[in-house]
Amino acid sequence: MNKIFPYPPDPRINKKIEVREISLKFKGIFATEGIKKGEILFTNWNEGCVLRSREEIQKLPPAYRLVMETYSTELFENKYMGPSEEDPLLLPGHFINHSCDPNAWLISDHDVAARDDIEKGEQITIDYATFVVNFFESSRITNCLCGTALCRREVKEKDWLRMRKMYKGHFLGWIEKKIEQREL
Ligand SMILES: [Zn+2]
Repeated sequence: MNKIFPYPPDPRINKKIEVREISLKFKGIFATEGIKKGEILFTNWNEGCVLRSREEIQKLPPAYRLVMETYSTELFENKYMGPSEEDPLLLPGHFINHSCDPNAWLISDHDVAARDDIEKGEQITIDYATFVVNFFESSRITNCLCGTALCRREVKEKDWLRMRKMYKGHFLGWIEKKIEQREL
């Protein structure tokens, strides 16, 4: 159902990244060349996606529900932007894996850039806590394998608060506002 390969050339996606299989079940995105800190990795990450409420997602047919739960971004509180049912062509950005000390991050609600220089062959990662607060059970990270010194093991609902200094300016807009209100 989910067409993944090959991608048509797409100006929204940095040409130096590609999706690779990590195991039978998992994919990830990797740098095919060195990428400089600040370089854009995807723009309009969510273009062509659909916005659905948590309640709407819970009523979807099981297979598509899982696609939404796995590949969506919580663009507004309890509203998730994910692949459409009719055209579930997944973009490389949807395969970005979590790390507790990632080499990529959001620079707007729709754009992801390199947080550090990334070497050829390195996996590109992002912290899921910067774009989801209310996780679905199916997509919850309970045993993180990022292996970094900052690994939190679990990604939890309050991580946006816990990680606010590390990712200041790199959360989704509504989460950023939540942090500002908290700090008033
Ligand atoms: Zn981790």
